[in-house]
Amino acid sequence: MSINPHLGQPVCDVCGGEPAGDATFRSVLSLLIAWQVSTRMGNFCRDCGVAVHREMTKFTMVAGWWGFAVLGALVVILMNASAAARLERMPSPTERPGRPLVPGPPISRSPALIVPLLFLTLILVFCCGIPDF
Ligand SMILES: [Zn+2]
Repeated sequence: MSINPHLGQPVCDVCGGEPAGDATFRSVLSLLIAWQVSTRMGNFCRDCGVAVHREMTKFTMVAGWWGFAVLGALVVILMNASAAARLERMPSPTERPGRPLVPGPPISRSPALIVPLLFLTLILVFCCGIPDF
């Protein structure tokens, strides 16, 4: 965790920008009965926090549905969204000594969104059958 020595305020662990807030983001890899949770915690400025949120949530959206940890994947996606929402309320840093992370496209426009939608469709077809049109 980085602190500005002059002001005592937290600075971004990635780029050194201010303001920054502490946040924890997780990703889930689930395969049959095994799963792995990865955690990244620290102080993030708005831009770096959004980038970490998108990266870890997109990974979970692709890799979190293939085992018993599917509910864990849902919880992680909601927890990541909550942490990112807190960081998004902060202003973007005006000055930063380092290079910020590139946020990339929003999750709503990411190809990773196809995987959970396909997964949900398969569950509905399995449970309800193929609808007659
Ligand atoms: Zn940053």
